[in-house]
Amino acid sequence: MINVFQPSLGVDEAEAVASVFTSNWLGHGQRTQEFESAFGEHLGVGAEHLMFISSATAGLFLAARLLDLGPGDDVVMPTISFVSAANAVADSGARPVFCDVDPHSLNPRVADVEQALTPRTRAVFLLHYGGHPGEVAAIAQLCRDRGVSLVEDAACAVASRSGGQACGTFGDIAMWSFDSMKTLVTGDGGMLYVRDAAMAERARYVAYHGLRRGSGFSSARVSGRWWELDVTEFGWRVLGNDVTAAIGCVQLAKLPSNIARRREVAQAYDRLLDGMAGVRLPPPLPERDENSHYFYWVQLDPAIRDQVAADLLDNDIYTTFRYPPLHKVPAYQSGGEFPDAEWAAESTLLLPMHQALTDSDVQQVCTTLSTSVTGRQAGDEARI
Ligand SMILES: *Cc1c(COP(=O)(O)O)cnc(C)c1O
Repeated sequence: MINVFQPSLGVDEAEAVASVFTSNWLGHGQRTQEFESAFGEHLGVGAEHLMFISSATAGLFLAARLLDLGPGDDVVMPTISFVSAANAVADSGARPVFCDVDPHSLNPRVADVEQALTPRTRAVFLLHYGGHPGEVAAIAQLCRDRGVSLVEDAACAVASRSGGQACGTFGDIAMWSFDSMKTLVTGDGGMLYVRDAAMAERARYVAYHGLRRGSGFSSARVSGRWWELDVTEFGWRVLGNDVTAAIGCVQLAKLPSNIARRREVAQAYDRLLDGMAGVRLPPPLPERDENSHYFYWVQLDPAIRDQVAADLLDNDIYTTFRYPPLHKVPAYQSGGEFPDAEWAAESTLLLPMHQALTDSDVQQVCTTLSTSVTGRQAGDEARI
């Protein structure tokens, strides 16, 4: 079976976990701080702006809280977003307002975001489709011009850069996912970035019961009743821990080589699929951008896309599509017309993409894809 996504875990990760056990402390501690510092270096931001949390989804909910979103507020996001972004907004009482995307990059264009802004828009939640930065710098500028906060759901973009700047650092708040299928995995986990120092401080206590620093063991020598609770805001419990942070440190050190292999796989697909009738390749990356290569996708005639996916599955090649448009999801049915997103959702197929793919795996995917597309569209003009 050739998986569509797959992590690479080995003895290094196992040894890092074993050393956490030797320390006899599993919770949020030393390893967590090390991971936050190393991730800050990777991004080019100070560790005080970062917090290791339990998932990117927790980060999206934190973002809605930190921006004090609520009833009467609108939040613009591409309809091709992961559902947890809309859930976080809707849970706050604010309204997700969807926008269309470029049909080939599946990222929103500046004009798509601009058209969806309303007088009630408080924030834009932007993602980087499959690790492709998209028009992030221009959208960040639009948000600044309109006085609207920008949240970057950088779940797919752990190593993506635009014009040399790390994706996730263009806006006010961002989060990365280290879920088991992502490019950097910790089991469950995520990193939160908060640009504003005071807001970053607030994020720390909202993520831990609303408890301010200064209670507990650390304050035992300065307070007579160190067990009392200094809680002024309802909080959650969404911190990461030293076991997952230790895995994250090892995975972060391996990130450059894993990304390099993913780039080779993407280049091999580009080469092998170039000019294949009925198969459209993803758009090339702008000159100064870097991609995390989380997804590699092709676009096919919508009339045959699902059958081609089934043919590949019959040949033990697993493919998929992310993210089905939210305006068609029952909880978010909002009407509105998003023709480019709808076309993309019917034509796009994500091919296997991970660092463990061999050259012959890639060859096999391309050969099987070619046979299927040729057979399925027999007699038809290539309509793509
Ligand atoms: C995976 C993903 C998430 C969710 O990440 P978790 O860490 O599983 O909560 C959110 N947004 C996007 C774009 C994703 O790809």
